[in-house]
Amino acid sequence: MTKAKRIDGKAKAEQLAESITEQTAALLREHGITPGLAVVIIGEDPASQVYVRNKKRRAESCGFYSVQHTMAGDASQEDVLKLINELNNDNAIHGILVQLPLPDQLDEQTITQAISPNKDVDGFHFVNIGKLTAGHTADAFVPCTPAGCMLMIEDALGPDLSGKTAVIIGRSNIVGKPMASLLMQRNATVTVTHSRTKDLPKVVRNADIVVAAVGRPDMVKADWIKPGAVVIDVGINRVEKTINGETKLRLTGDVDYEDVCTVASAVTPVPGGVGPMTITMLMFNTLRSARLFAGLPG
Ligand code: NAD
Repeated sequence: MTKAKRIDGKAKAEQLAESITEQTAALLREHGITPGLAVVIIGEDPASQVYVRNKKRRAESCGFYSVQHTMAGDASQEDVLKLINELNNDNAIHGILVQLPLPDQLDEQTITQAISPNKDVDGFHFVNIGKLTAGHTADAFVPCTPAGCMLMIEDALGPDLSGKTAVIIGRSNIVGKPMASLLMQRNATVTVTHSRTKDLPKVVRNADIVVAAVGRPDMVKADWIKPGAVVIDVGINRVEKTINGETKLRLTGDVDYEDVCTVASAVTPVPGGVGPMTITMLMFNTLRSARLFAGLPG
């Protein structure tokens, strides 16, 4: 029985963060610029609090100027837009991120589109989505999760994916769709599947590369996977598990890791796979934004 390689996202993210830290120091030394990241969090969602804390910690460890704006859960759209406007005009800030999901009274599209495309380090602005779709990525911000997935796929298969088939499970704007654009740019033949796809396991079995971004614990099984495929698990699900009579929440992905490892050639674990890469790609985008601001190549 084959045992797939575990793609260590945590180690790769650390390596990348080291390089970002070095480049940040060089930017300050040579051009007097420190990348600035502003994170806006609205409300008390516990998972969002953890994500924001991790992003702030990582930004500081890279040597960035990092600010967090915490707004009450009942903040008005007007107040949020006012803050975004201030951050858009603040020259010390090169990246702005509004942590999702937002409380019900706020309109996600209005808020994400209010962030200047030049500071949209999440890559959610229509200008950046358009540039990515058109293949004009020189000055665009690519969404962090698919950008991190792409680096891990590249590690496993090299930069040119000519002749490879890729199946993405999930068609969200933040993962599935940009992932498809990135894979097409590398010459993969891409299929995007979703909740209405008929006979999903059959479609997935064609794939040399599988990217699962659904939000359903352990959905992808070994008998969905073509032998030797590379499997990237984006899903983050919190499930209850009872060990020795004690019930705890644990994180699991969309891929049944142990099962799929018997067939695939390489698989990302959850936790320790896509998650750490996502945070580090946010730092990569912020550094890039600061460099572009300084008139340097991204
Ligand atoms: P989403 O809810 O916006 O989209 C889910 C997609 O899955 C939809 O396109 C839907 O059609 C599809 N889907 C739902 N049920 C399906 C089924 N039975 N079969 C096939 N497709 C189905 O989700 P998202 O924002 O893209 O996130 C997906 C998962 O990835 C979530 O678990 C989320 O927490 C996780 N995520 C992780 C990271 C990270 O950094 N690791 C980043 C973003 C999202």
